[in-house]
Amino acid sequence: MKAATAGYVRATSLSHAVTLLAASKGQARLLAGGQSLVAAMNLRLAGETALIDINGLSELGGITADGAVLRIGALTRHRELATSPLVASLAPAIAQAAPLIAHAAIRTRGTIGGSLAYADPAAELPACMLALGATIVVAGPQGLRRVAAEDFFVDLFTTALAEDEMITAVEVPFAEPGERQATLELARRSGDYALAGIVLARKADGPRIAFFGVGPTARLARSAMAVLASGGDGEAAAAVLDRDLDPPDDVHAPAAVRLHLARVLLRRALAATQTGDA
Ligand SMILES: Cc1cc2nc3c(=O)[nH]c(=O)nc-3n(C[C@H](O)[C@H](O)[C@H](O)COP(=O)(O)OP(=O)(O)OC[C@H]3O[C@@H](n4cnc5c(N)ncnc54)[C@H](O)[C@@H]3O)c2cc1C
Repeated sequence: MKAATAGYVRATSLSHAVTLLAASKGQARLLAGGQSLVAAMNLRLAGETALIDINGLSELGGITADGAVLRIGALTRHRELATSPLVASLAPAIAQAAPLIAHAAIRTRGTIGGSLAYADPAAELPACMLALGATIVVAGPQGLRRVAAEDFFVDLFTTALAEDEMITAVEVPFAEPGERQATLELARRSGDYALAGIVLARKADGPRIAFFGVGPTARLARSAMAVLASGGDGEAAAAVLDRDLDPPDDVHAPAAVRLHLARVLLRRALAATQTGDA
């Protein structure tokens, strides 16, 4: 089916995009990679949508090391995340996550800003932001604000973005010296959304663990993190995962299977970050 559009404007600057978004009063959508939005429009799931194309905004691109954070522009494509030496050395969990997203053609167009704004519970990048303690930089009519990833992902396909706001970048703290990170997932076929996935960052003051595909949003496994931080082993941490996760029970897998897969992934991620195989 062809998408039904109610207009198309190519934004010429960040302030132009924000002005157009505010003026649309929730009737327009930003067009980034189009890999989720256009698919939804083709299926007529998105209604008749006016599009604000942000692809010409160079200020939304680029990956830079800025002080103690890696700044990744919202328009950075998944492929760039997978191939950037800066991402590989300063946020390796993101470099490991990017090749797991869909297929090469989708990674060439899909963007980090689009993935975070869409907030699919099975997507890899929201969980990376949680595990790495990232900040989402957001622009709106009142200017810029910074939202901690922990406050950004609110519910199924729902974020803390107001209807007149857009993501401009993310700021990811550099991995500490000696820190090991791992992103792992289990999917039926390569390129499919994960049935369950994990992002683990082993920091000096304890591990940060985020899961995806096992609840309405990516989420931190706070009980398991507390067990490990207080000296418990992987089995003890896996045993409390049912307190942290709320897996869906759907046609792809029963909830009990997803919880089992999450436990398997926790053990694998802990082993991988211990031996340096991640
Ligand atoms: C077959 C298929 C398989 C896929 N598999 C996976 C997968 O395994 N893992 C995964 O993570 N993703 C997967 N995706 C989705 C893909 O990663 C998308 O690229 C991503 O979810 C959305 O990014 P986009 O840049 O394409 O956004 P778009 O499709 O352009 O936009 C998505 C939504 O985000 C909004 N948006 C875009 N940019 C911004 C911004 N800067 N600020 C605020 N709102 C914004 C749009 O208005 C829209 O509502 C898959 C997609 C397809 C078609």
